[in-house]
Amino acid sequence: MAVKVISEECIGCGTCVDACPFDAIDMIDDKAVINDKCTACGTCIEACPVDAIIKEEGEKKGVDINQYKGVWVFAEQRAGELLNVSIELLGEGKKIAEQIGTDLTAVLLGKDVDNLAETLIKYGADNVLYGDSELLEVYTTDGYTKVICDLIEERKPEILLIGATNIGRDLGPRISSRVHTGLTADCTRLEVDLENRRLMQTRPAFGGNLMATIICPNHRPQMATVRPGVMEKAKYDENRTGNIEKFNPNLKEEDIRAKVVETVKAKKAVVKLEEANIIVSGGRGLGDAEGFKLIEELAEKLDGVVGASRATVDAGWIDQSHQVGQTGKTVRPTVYIACGISGAIQHLAGMQDSDLIIAINKDKDAPIFKVADYGIVGDVYEVIPELINGLDNIDEIMAQLN
Ligand code: FAD
Ligand code: SF4
Ligand code: SF4
Repeated sequence: MAVKVISEECIGCGTCVDACPFDAIDMIDDKAVINDKCTACGTCIEACPVDAIIKEEGEKKGVDINQYKGVWVFAEQRAGELLNVSIELLGEGKKIAEQIGTDLTAVLLGKDVDNLAETLIKYGADNVLYGDSELLEVYTTDGYTKVICDLIEERKPEILLIGATNIGRDLGPRISSRVHTGLTADCTRLEVDLENRRLMQTRPAFGGNLMATIICPNHRPQMATVRPGVMEKAKYDENRTGNIEKFNPNLKEEDIRAKVVETVKAKKAVVKLEEANIIVSGGRGLGDAEGFKLIEELAEKLDGVVGASRATVDAGWIDQSHQVGQTGKTVRPTVYIACGISGAIQHLAGMQDSDLIIAINKDKDAPIFKVADYGIVGDVYEVIPELINGLDNIDEIMAQLN
């Protein structure tokens, strides 16, 4: 939409100039003239006493959506290893494909990763489009964007899902803008409106205070990046078969402007929260940064990793890479132990799908107990040392129990 002044109607009162919040109206020869700061907010239309400002509907653009078929998943791999989020997307993609009666295709780019193409089929892909090239061995924005955009133009998928990893967050917007479609970033839920095959893409909005469901009605593919750890992984079936189409992409060295000169691993230890089986998380109830030593000790005994609430990250007690929750990592371990964590909704959003939740909190009414399978009401500095002691003497304790 744009707005326009009907010059003949304008009486030059200047009301719209004062009303416009964007300083987008000038008075020239006693007539209002809209300049390029206009955001089409429409405030001036309401303000004008003689209805001299009107809405101009732009030409509706879109594509013939009936030409687009199939659900695609970008199968992200790094150094020949498939990321967990790719398997989660195959699980979700399969559900969507079945609902709308179409095929699930995985798009795999890399060099000599034929084994992964087979793996993708066993995880539920009906087809794998496998672009094999030295120029795709390492991720580059230009290279991957070009190959995927070429595929989209040629084959016209209806839906394209990408993991919201660092690479996915770089790649998704590039593709969507090049093929002129919409993209919903960082989705936490996907559903389909079966009446019109629209993908309902839900994500937190306005600082996490509400969930927004976004649709892309007139353009294709419908694109979403999806948070790692949110969707359930696809099941592996050794006997599954499917089509693997290996192709040599139309890509030249000069298509890629950035050259990867060297890859340097970050010095800080990487916390693989999303992949951990056991997570011991600490909250503000620990009292200070020192408290995390106790959490680390318990995590180590259980062969688990350390998680944290945002309050402790904000306080500078622990690095952000440990944060669990809406603005941190989404996890679903076998066991999640929350120590001195109140259970705010934003924390629960990242861990409530864990198989077994154990909470330790000195406040018996703490909301964390509502999602916990086992709750221990007590001081973390008394309970955790007892647990560690118990683990150290587990054989003796078991013998006594027997
Ligand atoms: P508190 O709420 O202060 O709870 C401390 C708990 O420890 C209390 O229940 C208390 O009873 C207990 N306690 C105190 N002393 C002891 C003791 N000695 N022994 C046992 N228990 C004790 N939070 C996240 O965690 N992750 C997120 O991703 C996240 N994203 C957010 C996004 C937005 C937009 C907003 C607005 C907030 C977000 N938050 C997030 C913050 C969230 O709302 C809470 O403020 C935060 O989770 C609280 O952390 P906490 O439970 O450690 O601290
Ligand atoms: Fe200003 Fe909004 Fe009117 Fe544009 S539509 S001129 S931004 S008040
Ligand atoms: Fe003209 Fe209407 Fe603006 Fe007054 S408010 S200057 S009449 S366009």
